[in-house]
Amino acid sequence: MIPIARPTMGEEEKELVWSALESGALAQGARVRELEERFAAFIGAPHAVATSSGTTALHLALLGYRIGEGDEVITVPFTFIASATSVLYTGGRPVFVDVRADDFTIDPNQVEAAITPRTRAIAPVSLYGQPADMEAIAEIAERRGLAIVEDAAQAHGAAIGQRGSGTWGAGVFSFYPTKNMTTGEGGMITTSDPAYAERVTLLREHGMKVRYHHDILGYNFRMTDIHASIGLAQLTKLPDYNARRQAIAARYDAKLRGVITPFVRPGVTHVYHQYTIRVRERDAFAERLKARGVGTGIYYPISVHRQKPLLALGYGEQSFPVSERLTEEVLSIPVHPSLTDAEVEAVIGAVNDTAAELGPMTAERAVPA
Ligand SMILES: *Cc1c(COP(=O)(O)O)cnc(C)c1O
Repeated sequence: MIPIARPTMGEEEKELVWSALESGALAQGARVRELEERFAAFIGAPHAVATSSGTTALHLALLGYRIGEGDEVITVPFTFIASATSVLYTGGRPVFVDVRADDFTIDPNQVEAAITPRTRAIAPVSLYGQPADMEAIAEIAERRGLAIVEDAAQAHGAAIGQRGSGTWGAGVFSFYPTKNMTTGEGGMITTSDPAYAERVTLLREHGMKVRYHHDILGYNFRMTDIHASIGLAQLTKLPDYNARRQAIAARYDAKLRGVITPFVRPGVTHVYHQYTIRVRERDAFAERLKARGVGTGIYYPISVHRQKPLLALGYGEQSFPVSERLTEEVLSIPVHPSLTDAEVEAVIGAVNDTAAELGPMTAERAVPA
């Protein structure tokens, strides 16, 4: 079976983790600081603050903007649930705006209508490795005085022109094992604002600058030096990993038939956290690929506003037609950098054979762009 994800751990990770263990410095220390500095430089942001996960990074990024009780944050329902639950953790309310059918990211044309006097931030999701339309979002945010929290959990190294994901407002990254780079569990917030970086750093450590002197209500959302050690080795390899993902994606773009391949906006660097196609009879398609030895993933099978914790809050009454249709059409196929050329060809053969059996997915049949 060719798996949908396969974290690659090498000698570099082992050596760095082993030396961290031997040093006895296990919790947050020099390795975390080094990862923050190198990650900031990689993204092109002046500051980076490491956290225990992408989810705690989202939570902290919102708290950093003082988002709390009754505040509204505009995001999308076609995403991982943490994009929305992080807002709920603060006491705030996620307000959903549908995604575009072509690139699966927030539709900037629908954002303005969702703004109310309680709106504090826009939190677009750079899904599958393609940046959301951050230029359009930044224009609205600036004009309406709103903060930006880009959920770039899947977009390490993605860019619009020369400008990297994570450099508009606060950027939030995840280092979960399936992501483009991993620390096991981990996350990062990036920003150009030194005061904001200081505030999220304070919130990460129990609101404490001087040991046991607590200035504000804080949390323990720290990363450990053990995890940062894995991250340092992974970050060195990330450019090669992303290039390999892009090369595999280019091969799929050229060779797949009978499915809708990903749309990439002109001038955008897509880092293919996922290579997500749209197919007919998606669940049957996935079953047949499995029988042909190809693992797949469905990101995501349920729109966030229809997930149980949000249904309980009354979100189920709302309708987001594009997101809801996409949950029935999308199928992610393996694109991780450790795929061999032979595996890539096997995936192409399996997808094309399955599409020939089940019939082609056409633009007319798919959710309209
Ligand atoms: C992975 C992910 C998160 C959460 O990150 P964790 O490290 O798993 O907590 C948030 N948003 C999106 C879009 C993600 O893909």
